[in-house]
Amino acid sequence: MPELTLVVASANPDKAAEINAILGVVPGLVLVARPTDVPDVEETGDTLEENARLKARALCEATGLAAVADDTGLEVDALDGAPGVYSARFAGEDATYGDNVAKMLDELQRAGATDAAARRAKFRSVAFIAYPDGSELWVDGEVAGTITVTARGQAGFGYDPIFAPDGYDGRTFAEMSAEEKHAVSHRGRAFRNLAERLGASGR
Ligand code: IMP
Repeated sequence: MPELTLVVASANPDKAAEINAILGVVPGLVLVARPTDVPDVEETGDTLEENARLKARALCEATGLAAVADDTGLEVDALDGAPGVYSARFAGEDATYGDNVAKMLDELQRAGATDAAARRAKFRSVAFIAYPDGSELWVDGEVAGTITVTARGQAGFGYDPIFAPDGYDGRTFAEMSAEEKHAVSHRGRAFRNLAERLGASGR
């Protein structure tokens, strides 16, 4: 199988470790970290696919190597799919994770979404590879669950303290170990899909 060198856009150490663990088993794939002198791109897209493409294409152009980037959003049914692609900025441009969590709990309360059935949501991640010849490959991964009424747990980041995935015992992602979360998470699923596609195609 021909060798493919892939630059990983995510500079967040936890995300990069998860991505490296999943893609690291694909035969013929050599993973390298994003060079520190390559700046972040502005995420100006209206969809997760567009933002993942922007990040992957910019890194591919800067390095001359194939590059993989991901973008994630939390889609809440009672908010017509919001915040989606705007999840990082839900409570404003400089919002902290805590601000976003507080706004989510507040909005659902105001929408009258008090029982679990009214608080359905899903995380969706897109993993996107941009190749130097202009070609592209992308896949997604999802996990469905419920937005809890109060925040619980200390692990993880972002909306983890208020997202309880289906098929578990009601714990939030922030109450799970990293291994438990990664086994079902949107990002884990997207990158396992990507690993399968790369393993099958050899590029
Ligand atoms: P990004 O595209 O991975 O940067 O994610 C955008 C936003 O979605 C982040 O700022 C977080 O608020 C949220 N997010 C992404 N992944 C997760 C996750 O695994 N758990 C909780 N929140 C997440």
